[in-house]
Amino acid sequence: MTDVIDLIRARQNLLIVPKSDEPPTHKPEILLIGCVDARLSIHKDLGFPDGSALIYRNIAALVSGNTEGDWHEHVSEAAALEFAVNVMKVKHIVVMGHTDCGGIKASLANTLGEKNPISQYLEPLHSVRDEVIAKGGDQKAQASAMEKAAVRNSVVNLVSYPSVADAMREGRIQIHGWVINTGTKVISEMDRETGEFHSMRKDMNKETASDGNGGKKNGGGFIARLLSFGWLPLASEEAATVCMACI
Ligand SMILES: [Zn+2]
Repeated sequence: MTDVIDLIRARQNLLIVPKSDEPPTHKPEILLIGCVDARLSIHKDLGFPDGSALIYRNIAALVSGNTEGDWHEHVSEAAALEFAVNVMKVKHIVVMGHTDCGGIKASLANTLGEKNPISQYLEPLHSVRDEVIAKGGDQKAQASAMEKAAVRNSVVNLVSYPSVADAMREGRIQIHGWVINTGTKVISEMDRETGEFHSMRKDMNKETASDGNGGKKNGGGFIARLLSFGWLPLASEEAATVCMACI
């Protein structure tokens, strides 16, 4: 029976090999942080040309953050951000969650036990999960709300890294939060001021994506969390809203 490794070997034999093995210049413009889900093909789904994006994938597109100066506990994440921001000097960082995410489902179900490595890995989402569950709703609504809340959380955690905060303050980088539909590949984009999600497709923007929050604005909490990191010397929420425009 032919399996996927056999197919890869067969494809190698069909490759038309160029005479030169000189690779193109490595000058990506984007760091995309996505989930490991095998149903997503980042370049194909988003239409990236080869060489334009650094891709960092983990379970649930999680950014654990550096909220207590504990980046050494997430050294792979910290190194990826340092490489993207200060070596490759990308212009954008995108956190892209997705629908039907197994990591999000595992966080919501919370049945793996404290010692399970997946449970420990998902610890940065515990408070987010508790907030989503407290708001009620059926399993599907909670999963939808959690997918978006996890992206918001990761975007906030990105800014806890001084290298990212500095780049934002200097206008060198923009941060984006997306959720891609695993089935349709339609992307919902996080509003820079409110933290709510809307379809990236213009003809669908009239349909406000539900976040399982009954349509209530949750921007106040989102902005307050950004402010709580003190990554900009802001005196008011109004000032924060202005600065969110650079995200
Ligand atoms: Zn996933």
